[in-house]
Amino acid sequence: MKILNKLKAFFLTDFIGAYILAQKYFFRKKSTLNYPYEKGKLSPRFRGEHALRRYPSGEERCIGCKLCEAVCPAQAITIETEPRDDGTRRTTRYDIDMVKCIYCNLCEESCPVDAIVQGPHFEFSTETREELYYDKEKLLSNGDRWESVLSANLEQDAKYK
Ligand code: SF4
Ligand code: SF4
Repeated sequence: MKILNKLKAFFLTDFIGAYILAQKYFFRKKSTLNYPYEKGKLSPRFRGEHALRRYPSGEERCIGCKLCEAVCPAQAITIETEPRDDGTRRTTRYDIDMVKCIYCNLCEESCPVDAIVQGPHFEFSTETREELYYDKEKLLSNGDRWESVLSANLEQDAKYK
């Protein structure tokens, strides 16, 4: 046994074996990503930051039916509504407490007009709790910012619903 160990040490067999193994992995496709500079592919069903969508005309989709508020298990959504001059109903307040939210997607599933959705954005950590208390303006601006991705994701997923 001692002789064998000495021979191995003399011919550097362990070192050569490790070197060959390292070279093999060096040229293989990497299984890790250099986040945040590289990002992985997200599913169209990814449950990220919420957004309120508009129609192409710019009109808000949300009709203030409050289904999302009723279904939310975390009671994270607060909605207030008022009828407009044209007889339609719209929200005057739409808040989501993102700290309470458990990202279950039930609000999106319950919405009859695809107004509230969970988008692909997940890098929205903040330093204060107050910044995670989203109001209607913030949610609509999220919708405006991500609309092209949101509509493409909804279209891709529609055949499975
Ligand atoms: S994802 Fe779930 S917990 Fe979060 S706001 Fe929607 S229904 Fe509520
Ligand atoms: S977001 Fe959808 S479910 Fe929620 S109040 Fe508006 S229309 Fe109703």
